[in-house]
Amino acid sequence: MVFPRTDGVAARGAARHPAAVLLRPGEPGPDRYLITADRVWDGLAPEPVRDGFLLVEGARIGALGRRADLGGGWDTVPRLDLPGATVLPGLIDCHVHMALSGSATPVRDFKREARAGAAALAVRAVQNLRLAAEAGVTTVRDLGTPNEVAFPLRAAVAEGRIPGPRVLTSGQPITVTGGHCHWFSHQCDSPAEIRVAVRRQVRDGADWIKLMLSGGNLTPRTNPGRPQYSEEEVRACTEESERLGVPVSAHAYDPDSIRRAVDAGVRTIEHCLFETADGIAYDPTTAILMAARGIAFVPTISGAFLRMGTAGPEGRDPVAPRFRERRTQIREVFRRMVAAGVPMVAGSDAGVPQRAFDGFPADLAALVGADGMGLTCREALVSATSAAAERLGVDDTGVLAPGRRADVLAVDGDPLSDIGAVVRPRLVLTAGRPVRGPEGAPPPAADGARDGRRTESDGSGT
Ligand SMILES: [Zn+2]
Repeated sequence: MVFPRTDGVAARGAARHPAAVLLRPGEPGPDRYLITADRVWDGLAPEPVRDGFLLVEGARIGALGRRADLGGGWDTVPRLDLPGATVLPGLIDCHVHMALSGSATPVRDFKREARAGAAALAVRAVQNLRLAAEAGVTTVRDLGTPNEVAFPLRAAVAEGRIPGPRVLTSGQPITVTGGHCHWFSHQCDSPAEIRVAVRRQVRDGADWIKLMLSGGNLTPRTNPGRPQYSEEEVRACTEESERLGVPVSAHAYDPDSIRRAVDAGVRTIEHCLFETADGIAYDPTTAILMAARGIAFVPTISGAFLRMGTAGPEGRDPVAPRFRERRTQIREVFRRMVAAGVPMVAGSDAGVPQRAFDGFPADLAALVGADGMGLTCREALVSATSAAAERLGVDDTGVLAPGRRADVLAVDGDPLSDIGAVVRPRLVLTAGRPVRGPEGAPPPAADGARDGRRTESDGSGT
């Protein structure tokens, strides 16, 4: 093992910056290089390191710290300088559907492509994963994709055969007959059928079990405001999943479904808006239980939904007072949940109407400030990096630290003081492999997703 000269480090105060002491360069080679930037933020610290560096060694992070602490002996190591940029962990999107188009009519697209065969869906997923990675997303949790697409795609990314974020996936969800997303789910109508579906999913490779507790906006003839499953059925799902060591993600809109998910011990609740047919009915007791049991919610609120009628091209749309009221209520639910101490991790629901796979950074930005959801910049970034990794049970990413995967995003500006910077990627590495930058943008996506106006949903998720 060759160590760098350390006299420079000592002279500049290594004792005050122990990160420099951790430097353990391995064999020199083309897959070992330094990135320097105005700021390096590790995904946890209150503040970024100013004038910092990150050492990438193959798929892993070798070291990081202040450039001043690097010492000598680095002249032969390739170096990438990113002036004006901030280096941070690659983003983690905790809720996507990789085989859905994200157009105005993703269900129609899905059914057409499913009729053509799994290959058509797989091509869609390849395109989506690439878009996400180029936007800075280095891990996704897919919560609803046919098994024959989900598991091969996960393997293709892991083996480096296609570019994309690392994929964790539930494969096919579990729903009732004719229930939410029944067109790609196991349709189960009893505790016994649910147990069988859990066993099949675990056998076939699911990282998560996705249970559709309430109906959904995406699926006609379901009811988002009422539970699909009884307490007994939800318990059958969590018991069987727990036995097999696989966590459960619950799709739940209405207060009863949310409560059943909490009582049965799921790990995350998707959407979690406390919606009923008569409007939002927030239940503070359920929120207290979620906080006490460490059950997280994934609000899947889109930036476009929050901005609609306030500015930008959407501003031309007449926004009904009822829509504004609903948006205000959703903000209120979100803020009360966070204030109650309920863990929150970020997810886009990419693939559903008007949620393209490169939109996650903008959704994240929309969580910040009074017009958004009231989070600070750092809170929003934590929800998509370190907190998300912990929630998803992947302890090798989400934080920049020696030995972790080199899942790295560099953006123009300082997203910790101006969250808008997060939509300006300059460099993206997935396990050390560059998928974007440092120079030149990727080719534009040939997807009309963002132009459609008629949608199959209302912008707050499936
Ligand atoms: Zn979803």
